[in-house]
Amino acid sequence: MADFKQSTKLHNVLYDIRGPVLERAQKLEAEGHRILKLNIGNPAPFGFEAPDAILVDMIRHLPHAQGYSDSRGIFSARTAVVQYYQTRGIHNIHVDDVYLGNGVSELITLSLMALLDTGDEILVPTPDYPLWTASVSLAGGRPVHYLCDEDSEWWPDLEDLEAKITPRTKGLVIINPNNPTGAVYPRHVVQAMVDLARKHDLVVFSDEIYEKILYDGAEHINTASVTGEDVLCMTFSGLSKAYRICGYRSGWLAISGPKARAADYLEGINLLANMRMCANVPGQHAIQTALGGHQSIEDLILPGGRLKEQRDIAYRLLNEIPGVSTKQAKGALYLFPKLDPEVYPIKSDEKFALDLLEQQKILISHGTAFNWVRPDHFRLVTLPNVKDLEEAVGRIAEFLSTYKP
Ligand code: PLP
Repeated sequence: MADFKQSTKLHNVLYDIRGPVLERAQKLEAEGHRILKLNIGNPAPFGFEAPDAILVDMIRHLPHAQGYSDSRGIFSARTAVVQYYQTRGIHNIHVDDVYLGNGVSELITLSLMALLDTGDEILVPTPDYPLWTASVSLAGGRPVHYLCDEDSEWWPDLEDLEAKITPRTKGLVIINPNNPTGAVYPRHVVQAMVDLARKHDLVVFSDEIYEKILYDGAEHINTASVTGEDVLCMTFSGLSKAYRICGYRSGWLAISGPKARAADYLEGINLLANMRMCANVPGQHAIQTALGGHQSIEDLILPGGRLKEQRDIAYRLLNEIPGVSTKQAKGALYLFPKLDPEVYPIKSDEKFALDLLEQQKILISHGTAFNWVRPDHFRLVTLPNVKDLEEAVGRIAEFLSTYKP
């Protein structure tokens, strides 16, 4: 009898930030080793707690959250999203343009599934948050990576981006603030990308999940505030990061631009939203309170705040390691350091991550897991407290001091 095999649809789908390196770490943990985990942007295990008001509100609503909701999501939460974008100067998002999801992840996959035919191309940044590349592939599309340039603050290389547009290109993914690089794009960069989308009639997918995690006075430009009425813009954001509740799985998609031209596509989105019934309802109840309440994330990112302090220390310590350099993150929860190939001629960065794990019990994510083009970067989360970060970066330095790839 033949073996049960996975679908060929998955053959090009890669999501290596939860791949073999993590599996090895889990085995080592099960054997009793203490692993310092700098691999996943999950605030809760690092002692970050959700604002009390959100928890109280969710608990209060729990008895009334037993049934399915409207498949787009509960009205009060979608209205809160509309009002939020209105305060950001975006006036063309209405309550039925908002879909709530089990985190942004579900909506990313759903929105690509609804759009792509086999072989359609989507421009995705490299490095990227790999769900984007994986979801394009899963939807039968072809992810085409445009370069972000480390020497220019990790901003997108617009020439490379335009050169990669073909008659099959249907959309452009913008991740801002960026995971894994921490880049925050200034207005002129967002404007230039939107101009390209307008010129080539592309749908813009704007992942803004870190929009409120900004450092050193960086300003976040919502793409939808630039796209206006003639560029279809799918904005993704949610509560996982700024409100520290990734486990409650609560995110949204807000659609703006030429909706009449997109009626057929939007029908497809509706169909897929209906098929999954609705997003988890208790998580939906957190949205109104989160958006309307005290924005406690500011206490963490402003001078003296824990996230800012940890980012500063990780940045300084990493740059002190010979052959390692990192750009400072202007937003999000990560640094994406470079390992100088002259000093560390690494051929497989996954092996580098495994070797580091075996020898020093430090778990990082290797750069090619973010579809980066060379095996010369890794990503580290800046969520651990200062003591753990000092220990982790110290052990990375010790490891590298004798590392022979
Ligand atoms: N987009 C980016 C850029 C992310 O970094 C993440 C999670 O790390 C997600 C989307 C997924 O977020 P959610 O928890 O809302 O599914």
